[in-house]
Amino acid sequence: MSLTGMVYRPPYEANSLLLQVTQGCSHNKCTFCYMYPDVRFSVCPMEQVKADIEEATRYCPDVERVFLEHGDAFVLSADRLVQIADAIHDRLPRVKTIAMYASIQNIRHKTDEELRRLHACGIGGLDIGVESGLDAALQYMNKGHTSQEAREQLIRLTNAGIDYSFNAILGCGGAELWRENADATAALINAVQPHLLFIGTLHAQPGCKLYGDMKKGIFKECTYGQLLDEQERLISGLKLKDTIYFGSHPSNIVPMQAHLPEHKQEMIEVVREKREQLRCRLDAYPERGGEGSILNR
Ligand code: SF4
Repeated sequence: MSLTGMVYRPPYEANSLLLQVTQGCSHNKCTFCYMYPDVRFSVCPMEQVKADIEEATRYCPDVERVFLEHGDAFVLSADRLVQIADAIHDRLPRVKTIAMYASIQNIRHKTDEELRRLHACGIGGLDIGVESGLDAALQYMNKGHTSQEAREQLIRLTNAGIDYSFNAILGCGGAELWRENADATAALINAVQPHLLFIGTLHAQPGCKLYGDMKKGIFKECTYGQLLDEQERLISGLKLKDTIYFGSHPSNIVPMQAHLPEHKQEMIEVVREKREQLRCRLDAYPERGGEGSILNR
């Protein structure tokens, strides 16, 4: 089985079978993204996908979850996804869920009936980079969707029975709009009530537009203090009924995993404690390593 190019997957897909069905990302324009800069998007031939499934039957015949690669495999047509799902279930009968990265545009291009069909064949656990609820931030990050569009499409997904991770990025509004970013993102999350919230923090790696914009001062990143204030404001604004908060990404100043609503106050206290620990450095910018990891907590 071969996976071409850099392979990314969400941390909670560590035990899933990674099956490549596309190469690159069909959008490939997000301002902060450095994942597939030189990969021309293409769809893998069905014969290759079937050969990889066949190979998987030899070394992980009992696998229960498959994650389709690469950047936004949900861009494939509903017919192609059903074909892939059928091929998986045919040869790997214990598979319950077929997950993948998806964008808001990918959902928009499918009808309600198609979404229900995809749910019926085990497709779920979509990992969606919504990033923000603030249109100014979404526009600068070149996500290709507005906050209202995200709201409409995520509700369509829920109505079709497809669960997903809502991925949001602290710091998306930069130093000038961190309050607005926190408030608008909390409002969007509250409106769609995701069962999984994946929180990361904005960082730029060489090779993406954001890196150049930060160097030139076009985009002003948030300081430690602003990021902590934004995180507290976001958590304070959340009114969720049953959501896992997965915030263990190395880019976060305060890594945490929790469940909302019951852990809300505890989460706020943890952020406040970190602010107290960092009180001499609140105006400084986080030093970062690979994948935006905080080097000096
Ligand atoms: S949709 Fe995802 S993979 Fe594609 S450019 Fe944006 S962040 Fe990168």
